[in-house]
Amino acid sequence: MKRFVAQLAALLVALGCTACGPMPVEQAHESVQVFAMDTVMIVTAYGADCTKTVLDAEEEIYRLEELLSRTREESEVSKLNAAPADTPVTLDAEALALIELAQQWSLRTDGAFDCTLAPVSSAWGFTEDTFRVPSQEEITELLSHVGPECIRVEGEQASHAAGTKIDLGGIAKGYLSDVMAELFTKHDVPFGMVSLGGNVYVRGSKPDGTAWRVGIQDPTKAEDPDALVGILDLQDAYAITSGGYQRYFEDGGTTYHHILNPSTGYPAQSGLTSVTVIAGEGEHHGAMCDALSTALFVMGEEKALDFWRTSGYSFDLVLVTEDGRVVVTEGLSDTFAPQKESGYAYETVS
Ligand code: AMP
Ligand code: MG
Repeated sequence: MKRFVAQLAALLVALGCTACGPMPVEQAHESVQVFAMDTVMIVTAYGADCTKTVLDAEEEIYRLEELLSRTREESEVSKLNAAPADTPVTLDAEALALIELAQQWSLRTDGAFDCTLAPVSSAWGFTEDTFRVPSQEEITELLSHVGPECIRVEGEQASHAAGTKIDLGGIAKGYLSDVMAELFTKHDVPFGMVSLGGNVYVRGSKPDGTAWRVGIQDPTKAEDPDALVGILDLQDAYAITSGGYQRYFEDGGTTYHHILNPSTGYPAQSGLTSVTVIAGEGEHHGAMCDALSTALFVMGEEKALDFWRTSGYSFDLVLVTEDGRVVVTEGLSDTFAPQKESGYAYETVS
C-alpha cells in the first residue's frame, strides 16, 4: 500500500504565489493509492475534508474486500460458499443486499450476468491463476449448478444449491464505486475521482471547471496504457469497462479470457473486445454499470444495443468490436472524443 499527499495550497506557497490570495478550501486535495480486489485503486478527493475522506476511503476499500472477496476465507462470500447445500447461513446485511442485487441483474440481463459462475471460472483456473482448458463434460456438469435460482435469500440468510458457489467479481468494484460516491457526499467533496482498475467514478468537474478526462483503452494494445480508442469528458458519472484483454491465458494458439458466457461455460465470443458503460449519478449506478459491462460483453453488439434501446435503464455505451469499429451511443455525442489515429472506424448509433 502506498499513500501520497498532494496539497495544492502548499504547492502554491512553495512556488511563491503570494499574490494569489487565500486558496479556496475546496481546492485542497489528497489522494490514496491502494492495491485491493486484485487491482490498483486510486481515490482523489478535494475539499476541506479531503484528508479524512481518503482515510475513510482506504478503510472502506479494505472492509469491502474483506467482506466480498471470494478468495478471502473470512469473507461473507466464502462463508456462503463453504456452507453445506441448502443450509441457510446468516450473512452481513450489506453483503446479502449485494448478492440480491447481483441476482436481480441476472434476471434483468436474461442470464448474461451470473454471479454463480464461480465453479466454472475455477475450472478455467481464473480464480487461482491455474489456467487450463476444461473438458466439455466438466463444463456441462458444472453448468448444471449455475443460475440465479441456485441461490436463495430469505431474511438475513442465504443458502445455495448443491454444487453452487458465488463470485461477485463482476459487480463488486462497481458497488465499491457507489460506496465511494456516498463517502464523497458525506464529506461534501466538491470534486473527486475514483479509479478502481477499469472502473471510474468522477464527482463534479475538475476544480478548474473543465470535465474529468477518462481514456478508454485500445483492447488490442493492452500493454500500452497510452493507446486509447477515445476519451470521455465526464462530470458526476460512472464509466466502467469490461474487456477480454484484462485477464486471459493462451493455450494451443487460442486465447481464453475471463468473461464467461453463462449459457456455454466458455469465454464469451461475442465479437466485442471491450464494453464501456457510462451512467450519471443514481442509486447503485456503479453496480449497474459494472454488471452491465460484463453482461453486454457477453451479449455482443446487436443484443447490447437492443438492451440499451429497450431496457429502460439510463446509460450510454462505447463498444469496441473485433472487426475494428468503435460504436458509440448518441447520448455521448458531446462527451466522447475519438482518437482518430487509433485506426478504428467510429460509428454513432441511436
Ligand atoms: P468484469 O471485469 O466486471 O467484467 O468482471 C469479470 C469477473 O466477473 C470475472 O473475473 C469473474 O469473476 C466474473 N464473471 C465472469 N463472467 C461473468 C458473467 N457472465 N457474469 C457475472 N460475472 C462474471
Ligand atoms: Mg462487471
